[in-house]
Amino acid sequence: MKATLTIDLPAIVANWRDLAARGAPGAVAGVVKADGYGLGAAEVGRALRDAGCRHFFVALPAEGMALRAALGAGPMIGVLGGFAPGADGDAALTPVLNSLGDVTAHAAAARVAGVARRAILHVDTGMARLGLDAGELARVTQDHGLLAGLDLLYVMTHLACADEPGNLMNAAQATRFAAACAGLPAMRRSLANSSGLFLGPGFASDLARPGCALYGINPTPDHPNPMRGVLRLDAPVLQVRDIPAGTPVGYGATWSAPRPTRIATVAVGYADGYLRSLSGRAVADFRGRSVPLVARVSMDLTTFDVTDLPEIAAGDRLTLIGGDGCSADEVAARAGTIGYEVLTSLGARYAREYRRG
Ligand SMILES: *Cc1c(COP(=O)(O)O)cnc(C)c1O
Repeated sequence: MKATLTIDLPAIVANWRDLAARGAPGAVAGVVKADGYGLGAAEVGRALRDAGCRHFFVALPAEGMALRAALGAGPMIGVLGGFAPGADGDAALTPVLNSLGDVTAHAAAARVAGVARRAILHVDTGMARLGLDAGELARVTQDHGLLAGLDLLYVMTHLACADEPGNLMNAAQATRFAAACAGLPAMRRSLANSSGLFLGPGFASDLARPGCALYGINPTPDHPNPMRGVLRLDAPVLQVRDIPAGTPVGYGATWSAPRPTRIATVAVGYADGYLRSLSGRAVADFRGRSVPLVARVSMDLTTFDVTDLPEIAAGDRLTLIGGDGCSADEVAARAGTIGYEVLTSLGARYAREYRRG
């Protein structure tokens, strides 16, 4: 008996349409890095393509090549991590140029080939990870000839604090981005991630790049989630057993039954991405009622106290993610992390079912 991950593709498409309405009149991409945040980049990509999405982003060239094979020719696939000229294996991927070195390498390759090279120019406005820094930007601003041979589809930047609407970083980054763009040749701009789409008109651009909100993660953590839930993890109960008060459960004997207790053991553990930090902290949903996780999460097994729901029997399924009280964001909060990490940690052992309509 396997645990099942059910992924609701129409809900992802509906989320993309909602975000596309917020991004209008600009375009809205689909960010499908890390295998579509763990949910399946090929399936998600095809569903979004069929709904009209024309721009995708991945992190790595290998992700881009796999996505190209899934999508066929047509949509732009931007590679956020960039790549050396020629390293995209003819998949017609669009590199994000993250440094002056990236710019000069691709411009030189374009001049040798005699064909303009499509690329996206990334300027750093406040993350200090990737993107042209202030000095590099100044050089390009003074000498647009450095960009000769490049067909720059967009100039982009990335917001550090978009999920905190009150954070002054947001306006500071928007201002720095506008100044950077003013010094560059005219080209389209790409600014907002999921949360950035909720920051207001100052964060509109020609191409938004939402990821997490497509997958149902709340892009507005201070407010109710405006997105549709996308994911459900249902785990089979392998055994139910009654234990007397005082009986310890699980590794380390960290929890003992405070009363005569019924324990349901389900076939999901930290090897499946059901994080060990959930030990003693999570709940599962059984037909709208909550059962508490007790004791430690093991590699392949997790135990729940089902004393108050005596109808639960071996073979029943508990919803561990995507039910009442256990959305991906709620599970993340109980694990001390963010929904992104819950999704991208989902393991390889699940039966995956894609809902298509
Ligand atoms: C991951 C990523 C995104 C998507 O961010 P979300 O917060 O998931 O919407 C957008 N842009 C860049 C550069 C990214 O790395």
